[in-house]
Amino acid sequence: MSEERDAYQRELRSAAKRLGLPVLGNIEATLLRHATEAIAALSSKCNLGDLSELLQHAATSLDLEIVEIHEDRDLRSLLDRIPPTKEPALARVQMELDDKTDAIVLQRQNPEPWDRRYLAVINCRTWHAYRRYFSKWHELVHLLLEGRQLRLAFRKTDVERKHPEEILVDKIAGELAFYPPIFVPTLLEEIDEARRLTFAAIERVRKRIAPEASWHATLLAAVRHSPQPIYAIRARLGLKKAEERQTTDLLSSVTEPPVSKLRVRDASANAAAEALGIRVHLNMEVPTASIAAKAFEAAWGTVQSGREDLGLWRTSGGPIGQGPVTVEAVRRGDDLWCLLHFTPATGKAIRRQGTPARARTVKRSPSKPLWGDDAD
Ligand SMILES: [Zn+2]
Repeated sequence: MSEERDAYQRELRSAAKRLGLPVLGNIEATLLRHATEAIAALSSKCNLGDLSELLQHAATSLDLEIVEIHEDRDLRSLLDRIPPTKEPALARVQMELDDKTDAIVLQRQNPEPWDRRYLAVINCRTWHAYRRYFSKWHELVHLLLEGRQLRLAFRKTDVERKHPEEILVDKIAGELAFYPPIFVPTLLEEIDEARRLTFAAIERVRKRIAPEASWHATLLAAVRHSPQPIYAIRARLGLKKAEERQTTDLLSSVTEPPVSKLRVRDASANAAAEALGIRVHLNMEVPTASIAAKAFEAAWGTVQSGREDLGLWRTSGGPIGQGPVTVEAVRRGDDLWCLLHFTPATGKAIRRQGTPARARTVKRSPSKPLWGDDAD
């Protein structure tokens, strides 16, 4: 783990050096500020209505052409327009834009005077389409961090982001894709007087300013910028780790097989919720008495909402908190999506002395993909 962290720190330092930025303090924050300021500078000159316009405008300013590939026909027409005989890298695009690849960005070697210098080819086939908005921002951020000269004339973005540079680019793209000066005022306009974020508000925001973004990515951004303490949870039917082992253990066939329960798969909090000290743990059970569990039984897409006590939500160490919580939940396919709104009266549970060590060492959620994996 620390090896990965070291590699990431090295990446931060080399990106900062390349851009002539100070290699001191929180370099990730410095790089994010640099990228945000670059977008601010080029968006200040015109009145941009939504985030797709911002993206288009930023691409033009960076001399980047973006091409979406939805089907073979799109790739053929790209190759007709820019034949590999003229631009050899296009032959590689044809070979390498496979199901493991989200996008490719390349520097044109023989552009016509009217051509843009860089070309981003975005994989929009099947499920990749859900990520296309994010993939475009990702490729644009590569250019922002390269200082306008690609070190590699051909750069492929794999679905699995392992390289520290890809992780850094994703972090910055996650912020810029929901550029706060456009996203936050719209979000606040769409939130009701109670300042509570709802699924309906998230969808209104998406339709108004980020129609290309996925539902999931917009939800994550809305939670991050919500003015009130909030948690977003995705839950699915599943077993505890120990139960999974039990089902694969032949000897266990004499005992009752474990029953799948609704368990937390992803959990994202905003800073205000984290400050309350309340933590929703991965794999914890969604309480059967919760409004969230009712939404899972309800018809697809039917939103259930109401108030309950956070004391219902428990791990083996006891409740994760106490006090009122407003719950909004909806089932989409096999997933249950849930928003937990805390109030200043919601607090951390006061645990008895001798809380089991297991409860204290529950792993933090790993960092989540920001592009979302679901659209509508
Ligand atoms: Zn990349």
